[in-house]
Amino acid sequence: MVMSDTTIFARASGAGRAAIAIIRISGRLCGPILDQLGGDRPPPRRAVLRGLHAPAADGCGELLDRALVLWFPSPRSYTGEDCAELHLHAGPAVVEAVSAALVALGARPAEPGEFTRRAFANGRLDLLEAEGIADLIEAETQAQRRQALRQADGALSALYNDWAARLRHLLAHQEALIDFPDEDLPPEVETTLVHDLARLLDEMRTHLAQGEPAQRIRSGLFIAVIGRPNVGKSSLVNRLAGHEAAIVSEWAGTTRDAIEVRLVLRGIPVTLVDTAGLRDALDPLEAEGVRRARRHADHADLVLDVATDVSAVGRQGAGVLRVWNKVDLAPAPVGWLGVSARTGEGMETLEAMLADAVAGLTETGAGPPLTRARHRAGIEEAASHLAAAGSLDLAELRGEALRLAMQALGRLTGTIGVEDLLDSVFGQFCIGK
Ligand code: GDP
Repeated sequence: MVMSDTTIFARASGAGRAAIAIIRISGRLCGPILDQLGGDRPPPRRAVLRGLHAPAADGCGELLDRALVLWFPSPRSYTGEDCAELHLHAGPAVVEAVSAALVALGARPAEPGEFTRRAFANGRLDLLEAEGIADLIEAETQAQRRQALRQADGALSALYNDWAARLRHLLAHQEALIDFPDEDLPPEVETTLVHDLARLLDEMRTHLAQGEPAQRIRSGLFIAVIGRPNVGKSSLVNRLAGHEAAIVSEWAGTTRDAIEVRLVLRGIPVTLVDTAGLRDALDPLEAEGVRRARRHADHADLVLDVATDVSAVGRQGAGVLRVWNKVDLAPAPVGWLGVSARTGEGMETLEAMLADAVAGLTETGAGPPLTRARHRAGIEEAASHLAAAGSLDLAELRGEALRLAMQALGRLTGTIGVEDLLDSVFGQFCIGK
């Protein structure tokens, strides 16, 4: 266990008005700090009420707060180092006074993600689990929470570690083929090797395919609402938001820009982008709006194409839901989903169709899915080495390809060569985690 020379502390609970503020401390000075502040160290992992006193030359300084104190001696702590938690009354003056006392006693404020980084350095969690924790802290919807918790609990690590172990096994067989001429080895060794390699590659490809829905769960889905001006796009978006919005963060640019509304459909965060009307614009500002609308539609996970007459330049194909608005004025032609943003007619069906489409786009299958571009890149790399290994006849080259595939997996869990990655992984945490 590495105990850092520096002792760090940070407020682990959110800022703003609250009943309790939790300050977390980690490092070598943790125990002595508790002795000085509260008179002694509580028994390990037991919450104990203590008066916390400012440090003073003659022993006991001013009483700062009465707080619940927890002591987590190394190695059974979040970071693996000596750790403590102070559950203070959350007044800003209390937090400030206790922070000042901690600095006076030799601790320093933590950087974002520093606690988790220490936990990683001490082998308390691997990189994938750390990323899972980052996602759990950010999770806004239930589907995001489930996915993040699974990753934080090590489901993805277990899968990649299992693959790495199987690769190691294949590599051992491969080396046996190099060391002993074929006549000394049963011919099954070669056949089994080729077969197992193909199977592993197959599993990786399935995993990559299932990762797309999982990445959508993590980052949320975009639905572009397109159609000619005045077909009722904004009215539809408002109605959908009014019914479903759980997290409404709405911003409006100019009227010619896109307006975004966030909703939660089946536990998935969805951003509805109400685009400017698609038509051949006359003035430059409107032309820019139309250009953006087209780009939104091109990058959206799903397009909601709204029309009120058959001359509309509708989009067709996968990922397009076609809607006929204003059925209170005239009925929808056969084959269209008729709605009225004004009366609400057909809105429930539309909502159900959207929710089904979202559920379809985020279906991940049984295994733990990859959730980030980093994972995708790593598995793609491993898979490409495996594919190369499968097509190489020269035993030595095949062995090298297997070794490279193992390295790609190792970088994902963080067991090898990740120094350059750590800043970007831990930099995304908030302070206090
Ligand atoms: P957008 O330009 O496509 O965003 O269209 P708006 O939402 O701004 O709507 C254009 C006009 O159509 C407004 O006057 C709306 O009140 C009207 N409108 C929208 N939906 C309906 C509807 O279902 N029925 C009727 N009768 N009018 C509608």
